[in-house]
Amino acid sequence: MKDVRSAEILCVGTELLLGDIVNTNASYISRRLAALGIPVYRQAVVGDNPERMRQAIAESFSRSDCLILTGGLGPTCDDITKEMVAEYFGLPLELNEEALERMKSYFSSTGRNMTKNNEKQAMAPVGARVLQNDWGTAPGLVIENGEKTAILLPGPPIELEPMWRDRVEPYLFERSDSVIVSKNIYILGMGESAVEDRLRYMMEELTNPTVAPYAGNGECRIRVSAKAKDEKTASDMCDELIEEIKKTEVGQFIYGIDVDSIENALVMKLRDRGLTVATAESCTGGLIAKRITDIAGCSDVFLGGCVTYAVDAKVKLIGVSSETIEKYGVVSAETACEMARGVRLALGADIGIATTGIAGPGGGTPEQPVGTVYIAVSTKDGETSKLLQLSPKRSREFIRICAATNAMSLALNS
Ligand code: ATP
Ligand code: MG
Repeated sequence: MKDVRSAEILCVGTELLLGDIVNTNASYISRRLAALGIPVYRQAVVGDNPERMRQAIAESFSRSDCLILTGGLGPTCDDITKEMVAEYFGLPLELNEEALERMKSYFSSTGRNMTKNNEKQAMAPVGARVLQNDWGTAPGLVIENGEKTAILLPGPPIELEPMWRDRVEPYLFERSDSVIVSKNIYILGMGESAVEDRLRYMMEELTNPTVAPYAGNGECRIRVSAKAKDEKTASDMCDELIEEIKKTEVGQFIYGIDVDSIENALVMKLRDRGLTVATAESCTGGLIAKRITDIAGCSDVFLGGCVTYAVDAKVKLIGVSSETIEKYGVVSAETACEMARGVRLALGADIGIATTGIAGPGGGTPEQPVGTVYIAVSTKDGETSKLLQLSPKRSREFIRICAATNAMSLALNS
């Protein structure tokens, strides 16, 4: 049996074309194929229409030796994927007794009656390999014919994903001669274009490992991917390049490798050191607390937070002094520091994080335009603050996300 050199993905379903459902199957399969070192040449979507499906199947096989199809394996008459692939290969369908027996026992185990049209799902092209479906009824299929292989999987992700993991991946693994390992470098404080500029030579010249930048919400991520015979070798190749990147100017802006997000990096670091944190938020309106509590199991680190939006709330809830606010203003380093200190003391945390600023679109002044945000961190050693001057053209959402990210970064480095 030959290696799978390249693959294409064809997702079947009119619902996908109507935009009623998002094509998560395609992104899932693409990610998994990348991990197996199999390049994906194209993803396509086609409705439950015989003629267009026929065309799409023939077109894919004209380019690639492996086609993965999802959806349209069900019992109803508009489920025709299997029939179309069998027709392409010129293979007749036959009843697969084993699949029928499994389906019967699946129905009885879930207390349902199997109807006659379900038998359609136990039909398989002659010579096909049947992939047992322990998560639903329609079995998957692998059809090999000469150089070409079609892999048919059920549409529902809750059936497709475990079937992929437990049945398709072991099959493909036997046939693939390499794996791809990717690692992500998380960067804050250096813009995407500056990062690209510093690493351009790597991005343009390297083919294995490769370097690719991603940006969003004021943050930047670099993905390093290596292809090798085994996972350890590929992983070592990534590590070597990451060390090289750390030595460049970009290095000082890296806050973690494979940390997922700044909140995750923060929670992991605090947990390691046995420290707790509390938040006092004005312009971010609880976003920092929300992002920290998105992490399951953060309760050993996060004590709580106050959304102190009005001046009064800052004074009454966390003890910011009215004089400070009067003298320096609500949006000031002094107020931010008192907020961070106030919430740290109120909740008895090791670290207090605070934000106060103007998220817009209104509320800016010539002295303090929209995008002016003070972030502060308080520890037993004192307070640190930082002024973020974000562009007033940025959306309210961006300014808030960016303020929350930077406040957590300040805490991470405290
Ligand atoms: P069933 O036996 O449930 O009919 P099927 O293999 O015939 O399975 P479809 O009828 O095409 O699959 O899709 C069933 C459901 O699976 C869809 O309603 C949708 O919720 C989900 N689904 C199908 N294709 C995709 C996809 N590409 N991405 C995400 N979800 C999908
Ligand atoms: Mg269906």
